[in-house]
This record gives sequence, structure tokens and C-alpha cells, in this order.
Amino acid sequence: MNSNYYIELEEKYGAHNYHPLPVVLAKGEGVFVWDVEGKKYFDFLSAYSAVNQGHCHPKIVNAMVEQAKVLTLTSRAFFNNVLGEYEKYATEYFGYQKLLPMNSGAEADETALKLVRRWAYVKKGVPENMAKIIVCNDNFHGRTISIISMSTDPDSYSGFGPFTPGFEKIPYNDIPALEIALQDPNVAAFLVEPIQGEAGVFVPEDGYLKKAFDLCKAKNVLFVADEVQTGLARTGKLLACDHEGVRPDVLILGKALSGGTMPISAVLADDDIMLVIKPGEHGSTFGGNPLAGRVAIAALQVIKDEKLAENAAKMGEIFRSELRKIKSDMIELVRGKGLLNAVIIKPKNGKEAWDVCVAMKDNGLLAKPTHGHIIRFAPPLTINETQIHEAVAIIAKTLAQF
Ligand code: PLP
Repeated sequence: MNSNYYIELEEKYGAHNYHPLPVVLAKGEGVFVWDVEGKKYFDFLSAYSAVNQGHCHPKIVNAMVEQAKVLTLTSRAFFNNVLGEYEKYATEYFGYQKLLPMNSGAEADETALKLVRRWAYVKKGVPENMAKIIVCNDNFHGRTISIISMSTDPDSYSGFGPFTPGFEKIPYNDIPALEIALQDPNVAAFLVEPIQGEAGVFVPEDGYLKKAFDLCKAKNVLFVADEVQTGLARTGKLLACDHEGVRPDVLILGKALSGGTMPISAVLADDDIMLVIKPGEHGSTFGGNPLAGRVAIAALQVIKDEKLAENAAKMGEIFRSELRKIKSDMIELVRGKGLLNAVIIKPKNGKEAWDVCVAMKDNGLLAKPTHGHIIRFAPPLTINETQIHEAVAIIAKTLAQF
């Protein structure tokens, strides 16, 4: 069966809620994926940063297979002999007192929204149903109704109303706007991506996160970091907030928490915040399952053992500096941190970022445009220097074709 067969199957039987590049992948290993015809590609998307540890990492897959043979799911109606060990491991790893396990990133974001609202009523004394959460323009936190209620992207929210109230949207990377929004005593939390990934890898000014954190503290407002995409070594530190020495009150993780093997997400916080949610008030059938517990421990161990944060920092520097040497009038700007990078593409002769991505695919490198004119480059963090140079050569060769 060739690629067209599988593409036609998806066209015919699948909902049309994605617009994939025309490539059908059948195998992955480390920084590479192969299509059904056997052609090999650099994966420079890493499943939107879920595959930070590289495709099919043997230690993660092994943990998964071994646990799958024994016990996969109990639900939280009963205890299981993995969850507690995972919670201990992860809370010590990130330095929090408690972890609440969920599955997708959006679910973890939803969990954080509920948590900070409850905290506002129970601890801060905000009048019932008056809690407000400050969010940023151009954010991306997922696809649920409440999350798209926070969105300023018409593709995300148009035609899906009515929306959840209680969110105030302010410009990203704008401290004076945050100061004004924080004047309302009913503000429970400020929810922010340390780097806006889906918006096109928008890196805020140095000091933004620290200033925002300090302002929140002065107003008894929770600082909530959505590190679903930026976390877990992607930006060259374990968490992107670590670049500014900020410890979020509430930390949201997902994606690479499983190394791309299954949906695993989590919310971390200290007792004072986490324990405002009582038994029966929140949960998920699959959240905290023993399979996920073993996989997440292995995924986190790989990040530490293989020094992926350090490698991301080093390889990211080389990648950006090599990209900046490419002579092409289609490159308007190169930006990023660690191995979360983007190139803003200036259209040429009617050719746009999409056309560049299709041509890069033909040349052996997969990446995806975001917002029409931006290409994100985010390979697995296991990539080495030789591979970075090979990848940049493919990007340069591709741009030269236009
Ligand atoms: N938060 C951020 C910052 C993300 O980048 C994403 C996905 O791209 C999500 C949340 C949603 O995660 P999921 O697609 O697993 O629901």
C-alpha cells in the first residue's frame, strides 16, 4: 500500500479537522521517521514537542511494555502500586508537594483552571462565581470549550460559542497591561506560556516572566505556567520558567511527559493550593493509570540521564547560528530558545511557508507551518551536531530552490 492509499482512507473516513503535509509515516527511531515507501526524514516537529526523548526511546518503550503485561488501568476507584511511586518521583523531580495526573494537555489546563478558581474562593476570599483568570492574547492551551473561550484566534473559537466567562485577555509580553489587570481583587490567577509555541515560538523579553511573577505575588494571584510545550528540556532548561528562576505556583505539563508514547499530563502545586480540590470533585478514568505512571517515570529519567536540557541549549545555539548564515530572501527572522525555534518566512513569487515545508519534505526534513508564514523547527532533543548540520543543509538547499 502506498501513501495515496492511506491519505485517501483518512480523507474518506476521518473528520477533516487537520491539514497534514502529504507524507504517511510508518516508523520512527530517534530523530528520524520513515514513510510507508521507506523514505527517511528528519523529524523537526517531534509531534509538537511530545517526542523530546526521540521516537520509540527503548527505555520508555520497555517500561511501557513491561507494565502493559502486568496492569494497565484500575481507575481511581482503587489504589494501584505505581501511581504513588510516580507521584513521589515527579514531585521530587520538579520540587512540588503534589501532582494531579491527567491525560491530554488540554485536560491539564482545564484542571488548573478549576484549581485556581477553587483556590480563589476557598483561600483568597473571592466572592462565589466572581473569580477571574488573566490570559494572554495569541495563547494556545488546547481545544476544549473553556480553553477556546480564552483564545484570541478566530480559527480556534469562531462558530463554537457560547463561551465560558471569567477570562480577561491582555497582550503577551506586556507588563503594564498585566499591572492594570491585576488591580481587580477578584483575579485568581495569571495563566501564561513561558514561550508562546503555537503562536509561532514567540519568545518574550528577558525578565518578563520574573516581573509577571513578582506582580502576581504582590497581589496574591497565582502564577500558572503552561509548560505543556516548553517544558521538559525543550528550551534548554528543564522548564522554560527556569531561565528566569521563576517557580510557578501551578505547573502544567503534558506531551513529553510520556516521550510521545501515550497521552500523559499533570498539574503540580503545593498542598496549600492542590488540597482545595476534595475527593469526587475532579478526575478522569485514565488519569493516574499504572501504565502512564511507569512510562512517565521512564520519560523523566531519560531527560535527566541523557542531559537533554543541556543538549537542547547547545544544539539550539548551533542551529540558530547556522540558520542565520543561510542566504535567502525568504528568511525574515530566526528566533527561539533551545530547540524550540521558528523561522518567519517572507513569501516569494506566491510561494509561502507551506510550499517550503512541502519542498523540505521532498528533501528529507519534516516541519509544519503555523499561522501561514512561520515554520517551527523543533527536533527531538537527542539530536547531535552532525545531524544539526545535515538538517540545516536540507533547509538551505530547499530555500535555494525558490
Ligand atoms: N498547552 C500548550 C502550551 C500546548 O502547546 C498544547 C498543544 O499544543 C496544549 C496545551 C494542548 O495539549 P493537547 O493537545 O495534548 O491537549
